[in-house]
Amino acid sequence: MPKVTFVIGATASGKTYYINHNFADKNVEILNIYDYQQKAYEESGYGQMMPMAVHFRCLLRANDDLLSDIIENLKQGNDVVAEQTLFKAKRRIVYIDAIREAVDAEIEIYVMCPGEERWQENIRLRKLEDDRGSFEMNTDEIEFPNPAEGIDSIYEVSDDGVKLRMDPPLEEQFLIDARKQIAEEREHVEKEDEESRQFEELLESMKTRPFWHYCEVCGKKEFITDEEAFVSGWDYPPKMGLFRMLGPRTCGNCQMKDTLYWKIQTSRKLPIVNEAKLNENELATWRRIKGEPESLLEEEKE
Ligand SMILES: [Zn+2]
Repeated sequence: MPKVTFVIGATASGKTYYINHNFADKNVEILNIYDYQQKAYEESGYGQMMPMAVHFRCLLRANDDLLSDIIENLKQGNDVVAEQTLFKAKRRIVYIDAIREAVDAEIEIYVMCPGEERWQENIRLRKLEDDRGSFEMNTDEIEFPNPAEGIDSIYEVSDDGVKLRMDPPLEEQFLIDARKQIAEEREHVEKEDEESRQFEELLESMKTRPFWHYCEVCGKKEFITDEEAFVSGWDYPPKMGLFRMLGPRTCGNCQMKDTLYWKIQTSRKLPIVNEAKLNENELATWRRIKGEPESLLEEEKE
């Protein structure tokens, strides 16, 4: 029967070292979650300024990709060693459930539990002292694996060596709760993805569909396409400027210097809109801009 070995633990707890010294010369496939995360980050197309939501999706994606590679290897009869964090029982359960469903395999976990001194030394060696706070948090966050999760053998790796540690099995309810949490999390992510997909479609459609163009200066309004507006001199997104960003919204007869955008830009203060200082017309313009492009689909009531 093929075997998958997870080596889990906090940053700088010695996972890679342990794997190199115990498995590198064996006939096993060694996979590292870190490689999968780097790949997901690169493919996301974001650099340092990655939004939280994108970061979270990259982590999920990396977890999914690593899991399917583990399963693929086991199906081919290869033993696998996977370096993972898997602090939370619920994350491990997703893995173990999927592996159990796909293939007959032995599952074991090594949990890196270095003593405080050893761990500080590892951090120092990796010049990580400055970020210590977050690593301390990491060790506290680890939920020690429990046999009830479906793991055949659980080993604690401490400064004293390796020992089998099978805690008393937790109640069934613990598994039910963990699976429920994961299902809810997936659902939430899918819903958000669906919403952003719909918004992208709406933005794309604004390039060709007719929509309401409101001149903020003279009050003229026309239900026309972006192309028609451009030809007759309108300054309006998507061709001119961006939806939801303050910029001129004018017809071909009016001028930028009479716009809210101009007023804010030339106020000699920070270019920030203070709603309390706007007159009624400016406020209407500002609210319409903030609600774009949806605010341009239906004609406004007088
Ligand atoms: Zn006008």
